Amino acid sequence: MKKKTIEDLQVTGKKVLVRVDFNVPVADGVITDDNRIVQALPTIQYLIDENAKVILFSHLGRVKTEEDLKKNSLKVVADRLQELLKKPVKFIPKTRGEVLESAIKAMNDGDVLMVENTRFEDLDGKKESKNDPELGAYWASLGDVFVNDAFGTAHRAHASNVGIASLKEAAAGFLMEKELRYIGETVEHPERPFVAILGGAKVSDKIGVIENLLKKADKILIGGGMAYTFMKALGNNIGTSIFEEDKLDLAKSLLEKANGKIILPVDVVVTKEFKEDALNRVATYKNIKEDEMGLDVGPKTIKLFKKELKGAKTVVWNGPLGVFEFEAFAKGTKAICEALTNLKDARTIIGGGDSAAAAIQMGFRDEFTHISTGGGASLEFLEGKELPGVTSLDDAPACDCGDDCDCE
Ligand code: AMP
Repeated sequence: MKKKTIEDLQVTGKKVLVRVDFNVPVADGVITDDNRIVQALPTIQYLIDENAKVILFSHLGRVKTEEDLKKNSLKVVADRLQELLKKPVKFIPKTRGEVLESAIKAMNDGDVLMVENTRFEDLDGKKESKNDPELGAYWASLGDVFVNDAFGTAHRAHASNVGIASLKEAAAGFLMEKELRYIGETVEHPERPFVAILGGAKVSDKIGVIENLLKKADKILIGGGMAYTFMKALGNNIGTSIFEEDKLDLAKSLLEKANGKIILPVDVVVTKEFKEDALNRVATYKNIKEDEMGLDVGPKTIKLFKKELKGAKTVVWNGPLGVFEFEAFAKGTKAICEALTNLKDARTIIGGGDSAAAAIQMGFRDEFTHISTGGGASLEFLEGKELPGVTSLDDAPACDCGDDCDCE
């Protein structure tokens, strides 16, 4: 079912509650990647241009101790947003109470206000994360309508997304809409050939994704740490490479079900130590030594994966192909970034999390059709699961464009 979007709402002069996902990485008080803030700008700018009063909610990190209150204030994010918008963002260091309420009352049309980290409400009984009804109702009472632009949190039912949405007219923001369109529609109605690339540390995190994509994709290329469980399931010696003993049977049955759709590495880069500058060599998966672990895919695999990607019209990628954090083991992941960049007429979608971080870190931020802002959310979406942050939004108004239109 299509969902109501921000453009379906009357927002002029209204107090618009907006859930964004500004859960950005912060090191020593400095934001190290502002992608999530940048991606939410179209929604915020649209509301400013429409003369709405924009009230922003987000979480930042987890909040379990008093120390986390100091570490995870959204003040640093409000400052960055202010620079990006080139207009003041009033930061309220509270999640409820008189100070917040009077600041909202004092807002003029087109003003932007940011509420403190919603997870500060978790310190005393996980009110935000458990979707406490009293908290959701309180936040809903602060505004007129609700926009959810936080795709990264859409797989969670929290007070600041589902709680508010269930009490207000609720619509998707532009980023949420873009994520649903790119990931959802791409997977449901892919132009073929459709190739999926999966990597990352563990198979167990991606079982649902593999099962769902086996039904939809033409090929699934598997690299990263998760490939070793499959290789071992096929009876190969994988040395000390990462693998999951309890997933060997599952890996075997997935390979049987895949009927040739799953393509595994044919060679890997191995080393004896898990460290940045460890000596390494290329090994076929038939001659990995007992004391060696594979930390990247090898050159023959890169060639094979590139061949499989040739002519692809749709590519969905989730999970790095090696330990990309170490330069010596980042070659496979980088080669895939380059290969996707060269697929000129393909839709290339990167699920969030580490593969998005890797692609951005390697300088490919603008080279894909879409890099998702959601890690867990994009994984669950690729599994074909419903996301509570999305289902809680109002359905789109019925189409009135005539009998022969193709609206759903
Ligand atoms: P995930 O969050 O499941 O996508 O996993 C990402 C992590 O997998 C990254 O931190 C990579 O360093 C790690 N990774 C990728 N390939 C390997 C490998 N061969 N051995 C161990 N870790 C790996």
